[in-house]
Amino acid sequence: MKIMKFGGTSVGKPDRMHQVAQLITKDDSEPVIVVLSALSGTTNSLVAIGEAMAAGSRDQAKELIDKLEAHYQSFIKELVKTDKAYAKARSIVSEHFEFLNIILKISFSEALSKDILAQGELLSTKLFSVYLEEKGIDHMLLPALEFMTIDAQDEPQLSTIKVKLSRILQQNSNKKLFITQGYICRNSRGEVDNLKRGGSDYTASLVAAAVNASVCEIWTDIDGMHNNDPRIVKKTVPVEQLSFEEAAELAYFGAKILHPTCIWPAQQQKVPVKLLNTMQPEALGTTITQEAGSVGVKAVAAKDGIIVINIKSSRMLLAYGFLRKIFEVFEKYRTSIDMITTSEVAVSVTIDHGGNLTAIVKELEPFGTITTEDNHTIISVVGNEIAQTKHILSKLFEALTPIPVRMVSYGGSKHNVSMLVPSSYKTQTLQLLNKGLFGLE
Ligand code: ADP
Ligand code: ASP
Ligand code: MG
Repeated sequence: MKIMKFGGTSVGKPDRMHQVAQLITKDDSEPVIVVLSALSGTTNSLVAIGEAMAAGSRDQAKELIDKLEAHYQSFIKELVKTDKAYAKARSIVSEHFEFLNIILKISFSEALSKDILAQGELLSTKLFSVYLEEKGIDHMLLPALEFMTIDAQDEPQLSTIKVKLSRILQQNSNKKLFITQGYICRNSRGEVDNLKRGGSDYTASLVAAAVNASVCEIWTDIDGMHNNDPRIVKKTVPVEQLSFEEAAELAYFGAKILHPTCIWPAQQQKVPVKLLNTMQPEALGTTITQEAGSVGVKAVAAKDGIIVINIKSSRMLLAYGFLRKIFEVFEKYRTSIDMITTSEVAVSVTIDHGGNLTAIVKELEPFGTITTEDNHTIISVVGNEIAQTKHILSKLFEALTPIPVRMVSYGGSKHNVSMLVPSSYKTQTLQLLNKGLFGLE
């Protein structure tokens, strides 16, 4: 079985959906599960609708709902040709927007906001199914809400997903083509939930692991993982091969092409992941497997919104048990630490969200003087056997001479050197590394 995931831009225009239909039917040597995102822009609109409702701005929410509905009404006009298919598509659009209009009238809750967010993927898959039906392409819609689950800690439950999905597939073993929603799932309370923004990649990897797929293809709007962030740096090039570890580090440290934690399920089942370009299907893309392919630096990525917490203490620091006590505070508030540096008199750690910052600082106060600095960015240099790459540190520091590097993390993994810089230096840092490490300007 093969998994093919298409992101928002890959399904964002009727023509693109037509092209997706061609791509998924090109090779019929094995059954395919297609995972679709919402049409580009839809999830952002649904987030805005939820926020307007939460703020009690019903008029604004209504305006946003109507605007989005108009977008879908014109989308389906170009998507299908026959009256029959058009009538079907219209009734799907009406059904989902009626639902949003009903939600508008009831009192807002967190659970309702998740219901709102789920409409995007439900719409894209149902409309795509109408198009496939019109083209006479035999397929089945697999409702993600029937097999994709997360536990009380919001973690996907791979073993449960496997059991539920296998059962549905067995019951439909005569089918060769399945279409399912990315991103959406059910939580431990049985409510509709999601795998966080960009989560369709995670769905694809989980499905690939659950069915032990031959390959998990992530089709997007660029020809693979590039050596640097193409939104920030002018000249970037695709990386042909990455190991699961390298890809996981790049995704976690900000390479937007992949959801931050989407690699582990594929890695666990050793399913190769391919990053491919819907707009340029013949391009090589990036292959992610156990093997790194080559030694040396492959890519850099940047993760914004980092907060530094400094703990300064002349009395207790580095006494045994001291770090444990500090870490316990972060564990209590379910906040993970990305970087850490220690000296005789101070420890600095970084976190990537400030949701519990006030409480964390308060609980750390008995251990020393606490200060915080926000607006930082982690720049990660990722590759294979980086420590053995000749002159890597001198190259790095030479390239970054003008940058006030705040922290450095080296040696934690064989695949990564991370540096913390003030976010105002992010663009310059990525540009300097592009030249210093890859010789690209
Ligand atoms: P999709 O909607 O298909 O999931 P995304 O927008 O989530 O697509 O991811 C693709 C985008 O990721 C690219 O258009 C590119 O701008 C951005 N991106 C950021 N860093 C990288 C990188 N290192 N390599 C490739 N793309 C990257
Ligand atoms: N539609 C969701 C989002 O925009 C999930 C995804 O596209 O991966 O975040
Ligand atoms: Mg994405």
